[in-house]
Amino acid sequence: MPHILDGKKIAQKLKDNLKIEIVNLNSKFKRVPGLAVVQVGNVTASSVYVKAKTKAAQEVGIKVIDHHLKENTNQSELINLINQLNNNKDVDGILIQLPLPKAINEEVVLNSIIPEKDADGFHPLNVGKLSISSKNEENLMIPCTPYGCLLLLRELNINLAGKNAVVIGRSNIVGKPMAQLLLKESCTVTIVHSKTLNIESICKNADILISAIGKPEFVNKDWVKEGAIIIDVGINRIKINEEKSKLVGDVLFSDVENKVSAISPVPGGVGPMTIACLLRNTTTAYKLKYNY
Ligand code: NAP
Repeated sequence: MPHILDGKKIAQKLKDNLKIEIVNLNSKFKRVPGLAVVQVGNVTASSVYVKAKTKAAQEVGIKVIDHHLKENTNQSELINLINQLNNNKDVDGILIQLPLPKAINEEVVLNSIIPEKDADGFHPLNVGKLSISSKNEENLMIPCTPYGCLLLLRELNINLAGKNAVVIGRSNIVGKPMAQLLLKESCTVTIVHSKTLNIESICKNADILISAIGKPEFVNKDWVKEGAIIIDVGINRIKINEEKSKLVGDVLFSDVENKVSAISPVPGGVGPMTIACLLRNTTTAYKLKYNY
């Protein structure tokens, strides 16, 4: 049986540590970290994510400043709000729940968050720092999902240096920063995507295979090397019958489980780690503000 990377348990450990840290920070600086959570419209999945993030933040002692805006909010109204939050001393991190309504340009909006409050780690300056900075990871705002994947890998207590890592997907929020993080760990990194030729044979060479494509149960045992470590980022809802549906990853778990040495499940793998890393980024932003 493979080692199941229990994201729920590992995220809880991270949150427990953050909770203690925030108590100490509060007694030193007389203020808890503040996270502004901005949702525009009522996409059901977004509401679910916002609720989960708010609950987790409150659990560790982060103050949540909630802004739920109407679907017809326009871009300049949203940017006005972000400017206010940028200047609000009680706000350390700003989270804009994606996707935004089609009429709003996500890139423009995300770039209007000052990098110091960029809780998601998406701002070009933070992306650049992740790529070129020699600073310790404690001082960086790191995209939450790939950082969560790295923390899952670290739980295995193996030497990542020199491992052949393949990342499937090249999005700005998962695939690309994931590759940067693995490179920082001295892995040999390959990114594959929808235009990659012979994708299966490239993946089959991976000691570490990270899938972030959003295609249900797409990766099967023929893509996987014996003993590989799999991190499944995908979250896909599939129908079981007319009434019921369930969440599955990008990887066909039942097909690969006897071939791999470790795997993260869906749900309960990367998802909880993403939320924990958002809380970590908010706390990091707070500490950087006080040069602490
Ligand atoms: P995205 O922006 O849609 O990017 C998907 C990537 O997958 C693209 O680079 C695309 O290639 C590649 N791809 C699509 N079909 C492919 C194929 N047949 N073969 C190889 N590559 C293929 O998605 P994302 O935002 O990165 O998210 C990916 C998945 O992770 C989704 O299921 C999402 O729900 C999930 N996710 C989970 C969490 C979490 O917390 N667990 C967080 C974020 C995202 P091209 O660039 O060539 O189009």
